[in-house]
Amino acid sequence: SHATSFEVHEEEKSRLVGNVFSSVASSYDLMNDIMSVGLHRLWKDRLVSKLNPFPGMKHLDVAGGTGDVAFRILEALNSVKHRATQDVLEDNLHEETQIIVCDINPNMLNVGKKRAMERGLGEDKSLIWVEGDAEDLKFEDNSLDGYTIAFGIRNVTHIEKVLAEAYSRVLKRGGRFLCLELNHVEVPVFKELYDYYSFSVIPAVGELVAGDRNSYQYLVESICRFPSQETFVSLIAAAGFQKVEYENLVGGVVAIHSGLKF
Ligand code: SAM
Repeated sequence: SHATSFEVHEEEKSRLVGNVFSSVASSYDLMNDIMSVGLHRLWKDRLVSKLNPFPGMKHLDVAGGTGDVAFRILEALNSVKHRATQDVLEDNLHEETQIIVCDINPNMLNVGKKRAMERGLGEDKSLIWVEGDAEDLKFEDNSLDGYTIAFGIRNVTHIEKVLAEAYSRVLKRGGRFLCLELNHVEVPVFKELYDYYSFSVIPAVGELVAGDRNSYQYLVESICRFPSQETFVSLIAAAGFQKVEYENLVGGVVAIHSGLKF
């Protein structure tokens, strides 16, 4: 079946990604916790601490799904706000803060909105949910201070288009790009264990918990197809970004790539 082929046609890929995330939306957060043994929480914390959000910032979290990264950014900003002595001033600044979650899949966004409500963020005006495609963003030129994409760029059809939208269009000068993504493990022995875990355990758990082996099989294959850490650095630099670098976490199971728009 197409889900097990490594040569997925482009249209096929878009359709598949749509199906995958529609069918996993309701079990997405639980599956994340199970498959990463909770580690995705620490990886997202690390992403947000590298971003170092500031009050008043306009930030876009692309492929933001059910809101994990956006919630962390808001938490970070709220703790800054509570520490501040000039509360009134900070409140004014906070009014203008915009943390935008953009995702192509409305099911994922709906799960996110529900979670926001449960967290008491339902009325928070700085949290904005937008349905949209990373390859063709509907935001103004040079309008954003920050851009994050977590476990999202692996699923898009044209990585180059996504990077070009970030660099040449939506980010302001001085704006930062940060990408958290499952990457390539090169550490011997650990690599073999990790491959076994990816190809045998994950699809089986997907079937058991989400009743959906194919979607999780697809996710594992998309990790293999994704460019290596160094190749991805070149792609980000080719889009125009400066100071491109990355940090491996857990031996490269995930990496955080970053770049600046000067
Ligand atoms: N960032 C969230 C997180 O870390 O929990 C969600 C990651 S989830 C693995 C990948 C998300 O990418 C899905 O919600 C999917 O709908 C979204 N996605 C896939 N292709 C996209 C595109 N072209 N533009 C925007 N979002 C996309």
